[in-house]
Amino acid sequence: MNRISIYFRRNGPVNSIRMTSRFLGLPLYKVNAFFVDGLLIDTGFAFGRDRFLELLDTLHPDIVVNTHHHEDHTGNNFWIREKYGLLPLAHPKTLFYLQDPTQWVPWYRRLVWGCPHPSETRALDSKIQTKNFLFLVIPTPGHSDDHICLYEPNEGWLFSGDLFISEQMKYLREDENIYSIIDSLKKVAALHPKKMFCAFSGFIDRPEEAIHRKIEHLENIKYEVEKGVGEGTSTRELQHRLLGRGDQLSLITSGQISKQNLINVFIRK
Ligand SMILES: [Zn+2]
Repeated sequence: MNRISIYFRRNGPVNSIRMTSRFLGLPLYKVNAFFVDGLLIDTGFAFGRDRFLELLDTLHPDIVVNTHHHEDHTGNNFWIREKYGLLPLAHPKTLFYLQDPTQWVPWYRRLVWGCPHPSETRALDSKIQTKNFLFLVIPTPGHSDDHICLYEPNEGWLFSGDLFISEQMKYLREDENIYSIIDSLKKVAALHPKKMFCAFSGFIDRPEEAIHRKIEHLENIKYEVEKGVGEGTSTRELQHRLLGRGDQLSLITSGQISKQNLINVFIRK
């Protein structure tokens, strides 16, 4: 049986809501939603509904935004609309995915955090004004085609959804576009953010350097893969050399998330 824990943490005016799905005491996966000045950024996963809504009772959100359609970011959209009458804002494409999440949430992700109830979203404008802050909506496709970041220029805050995740990326989803991810990373680095709030890693200080290191990491893999292929090295050997042995996620996800995907993507182009 899955157990859900929710951890709430302040970083200045920004509150992180970290939800962790556990199985037999072991953390399976975590995701962060954020709350700042009445604005809720992402709605967590469906299995965490009761605890998440209890927390929102104390926060009183006015506006809800989804960074993208994935089920750990939209899991409670339906219930937030039911309970507070708030219609989440998102990229125009998000609406299509949320009409029927059973069409695209695979079994292993349903086991970890559940499948969202169908819900609706309204298309975002180019900015969001809260009482004290102005957030610019930055389209950042790659992780998904409907991915957006929010950027508060006066504070230098970047809410990066699943664009960044980690510096030393070793896995790629088969539906991710690595070239769009690199372009989107360059786009947000050019904003010179001072603080980043990542849905996977939480608060990240000095994000501009971290984003540039991630771009370098990906461009280095691209260089080494192209070179290795030219020399006749097998894709398996390239994976071992560049990303390490073992590809456990590939087994669990039937290849949807794997190290091999991150090698193959630079060969097919
Ligand atoms: Zn995602």
